[in-house]
Amino acid sequence: MLNKKGMMMASFSVVIASSLLMGNATMLSAASAENRSAVTAATGDSTLADMPAYLKSSVEWVWKNRMLTEGSTARNNTIFDQIDAGKGTLNYVVRWQSSKPVTLQQRQDIARMLGRQMNHWTEHLQGYDGWPYKEIKVKVVGWAVADPSLLLDKQPDEVVYTETTRDELASEKPEIPAVLPVAPAALSRYEHYWDPHYSYPGGYDKRFDMYLWVTENFVGGTGQDWGQRVNDDYLFSTLNSDEIQITEHEIGHGFGLTDFYEEHERPPGGFPTNTIMWAGDSDHITDWDIWMLRYTWSQLKKDTSRFPNTPRDHEGPIDTSPDENVNIGRAAKASTSYTSPWENVSALNDGFDPTSSNDRSHAVYGNWPETGTQWVQYDFDQEHTVSQTDVYWFKDGGGIDVPKSYKIKYWNGRGWSNVKQAKGLGTAADQYNTTTFTPVKTTKLRIEMVSQGSASTGILEWKVAAN
Ligand SMILES: [Zn+2]
Repeated sequence: MLNKKGMMMASFSVVIASSLLMGNATMLSAASAENRSAVTAATGDSTLADMPAYLKSSVEWVWKNRMLTEGSTARNNTIFDQIDAGKGTLNYVVRWQSSKPVTLQQRQDIARMLGRQMNHWTEHLQGYDGWPYKEIKVKVVGWAVADPSLLLDKQPDEVVYTETTRDELASEKPEIPAVLPVAPAALSRYEHYWDPHYSYPGGYDKRFDMYLWVTENFVGGTGQDWGQRVNDDYLFSTLNSDEIQITEHEIGHGFGLTDFYEEHERPPGGFPTNTIMWAGDSDHITDWDIWMLRYTWSQLKKDTSRFPNTPRDHEGPIDTSPDENVNIGRAAKASTSYTSPWENVSALNDGFDPTSSNDRSHAVYGNWPETGTQWVQYDFDQEHTVSQTDVYWFKDGGGIDVPKSYKIKYWNGRGWSNVKQAKGLGTAADQYNTTTFTPVKTTKLRIEMVSQGSASTGILEWKVAAN
């Protein structure tokens, strides 16, 4: 759920950026050795006050004008959050969307590679501003693969998931395999990070924080708090490399770091060094990246409730939370196909977090006795980029029940389109149901609900996260 904190970055832009990256990868590799700048070592305890002066203005500019504005760290599921929740551990599932077999050696190399790439980032937090972790222990806790026989010489302790769904990307790009393996949502932190009371089947050690999502014929890479997506051949060819440009870049997004492919997205006057987060600009993590990562940590840890497992002292003033972003639903005009005369569609965005699906302590929205397809709509006073909504369904044990299904639609300027790559669309009672989708720029959003049988539908609160 969104609650106080909101959204991650737009993943569509990441695709574009990373395809540039891939194109530049070979070109850059020859020059990389000499370009490599001496990377600041974390020696002893350092703080933000130790940031070199030449980096300061650009790092601060990016934090304020990109990361805060876009809410790239607003959702409490950045890799910082994941590491804190796992007390210095990160668990991956490898999502194998490829027809190529993987040897046992390659699987072991993949696990080591993930640990290496992750620690190339996190080693620069060691000894910095209260970061309590040394080496981050990265584990592959499962493989999601449609055809388990691709895992050659499978060991008895290897966990394999063979459930699949359909990759909608394959309808636009027929070279992408349509069959998409999935690991159980019940084990996914991404699905549950917002719920402190959720318990993972088998315990927290069994959860997975991110996917390494490996796709045949995929161009470039994408990354977010759900993990990193790369091409299968790229993975194989870089398996034993020290720093892996695309994979590290995409992991950077998991920490909330942003892309810089448009000029107006870069600091005025440019960067004082190269950066791996500007596609094609660097094939390794630079001093600028290190201080951007550290700066981000220093900002996020000011939210004293955010990292419960990270001990710290609270000397000095605690700054205001870096952002109070996000639920742009609050400012929207709500409307609907139908409201029962005694209910009120303004309940959708009155800002009240219900305690259950039958919480009638505040206004509620319901459309009894209507059935079939009904909708609710938000009109914004300006265009917003949106990629997540959270719905708390109304269910009164009588005539109102959660819907059978629903769609999220956006106004495309001429009509209503379904959002793409919608993940979630849950109908659980007594909780927010988070749905994420490919970001869209729009002035209006709709939920189109299909009722179950003779029951009507209703909503207690509908949140919309802005990027
Ligand atoms: Zn990117």
